[in-house]
Amino acid sequence: VSTWSNVPAGPPDPILGVTEAFKADKDPRKINLGVGAYRDGDGKPYVLNSVKKAEDFLRASNPDKEYLPITGLPEFTKNATKLAYGADSTPLNANAIAATQSISGTGALRIGGAFLARFYPHSKVIYLPVPSWGNHTPIFRDSGLEVRGYRYFDKKTVGLDFEAFFRGRGIAYYIVVDQNAPERSIVLLHACAHNPTGVDPTPAQWKEISNIVKEKKLFPFFDMAYQGFASGSTDRDALAVRLFVSEGHQVALSQSFAKNMGLYGERAGAFSLTTADAEEKARVESQLKIVIRPMYSNPPLHGARIANTILSRPELYGEWEAEVKGMADRIISMRERLYNELANTHKTPGEWGHIKSQIGMFSFTGLTAAQTKALAERAYIYMTADGRISMAGLNGKNIDYFAESVSRAVK
Ligand code: PMP
Repeated sequence: VSTWSNVPAGPPDPILGVTEAFKADKDPRKINLGVGAYRDGDGKPYVLNSVKKAEDFLRASNPDKEYLPITGLPEFTKNATKLAYGADSTPLNANAIAATQSISGTGALRIGGAFLARFYPHSKVIYLPVPSWGNHTPIFRDSGLEVRGYRYFDKKTVGLDFEAFFRGRGIAYYIVVDQNAPERSIVLLHACAHNPTGVDPTPAQWKEISNIVKEKKLFPFFDMAYQGFASGSTDRDALAVRLFVSEGHQVALSQSFAKNMGLYGERAGAFSLTTADAEEKARVESQLKIVIRPMYSNPPLHGARIANTILSRPELYGEWEAEVKGMADRIISMRERLYNELANTHKTPGEWGHIKSQIGMFSFTGLTAAQTKALAERAYIYMTADGRISMAGLNGKNIDYFAESVSRAVK
């Protein structure tokens, strides 16, 4: 009998499993709206020009393949934190941001989870929005934190849960009403372009959330996987993080360059913590190294080199910013068009305004699990069972077919 005869088959990943089903489908009309990877107007993966130029530049400089330090390429983490916190950030200029390169956003979250599990001096409970990106729960659970949820999304209005955010209670209300809620819990916030709902707080609501987080002494952990993708501006999308820092919060931050630089498989990201001063930063970084070393020793070179080249060379930076805006704008134009097709052309029953008002890569359509199943089986259209679609998977060639099929599934 085999040593592994007792290993049960696990379920497919709820997001990556959609891609597997899509790949197996032979129908030429098939559409994959599952995974959150940008596609150009022809439905093709998109390598940014700024990335190609950075690679040309790197090739010409003939770099070696030595190991990076445990916390990665120092110029990369410096430029990544500058991008997130802003060049005029007080902790940045005080040399008080502890940072490390990470295996993209997932790795940043995992390092952060492990660091907090080891050193956060208060409750080891992390509150995640419900719903959230499907990988958050296993990442933080496997990091050694206890995972709980706070209400974020109101199914009835397909929008931000106003009852949760307003009436003076907000996120903390749901933590407080949880009788067993520990003091000073950790709270995960999507910095922008909330996944899967596409619903972000307004600037005024962020201020409100900051007040609640402060009042309840929660520790904010920002996940910023889409900086630039929400509004087209990396500065505007960093508003929440910068507001919290300027309001005096100490924050944890996960950054990914998968989406905004299209570096998905290169795994370029960063994890950072704001600390009191340079001396504390040095202590924290020494412990980040001790967390990382037994996990993977040191991070991969190429993606960080590309991102750093773009971030540090003004001519590439400018081109990159324009490309980020181009991606965001194409998605926004697809939102307009899908809304018009569903609401006007096909007179699809229901309210579809949220398609236009939602932000970032995804739209939470409101389609039910049964409808998403019918779309896969009858129209070869694939999305996650919660009705989330990656807007970037739509283009001028498939959007009419998509809208017509959704309309039929709803009717
Ligand atoms: N956080 C959120 C909210 C995400 O949507 C994603 C990507 N789907 C990530 C983190 C991490 O992605 P990656 O590891 O590819 O950077």
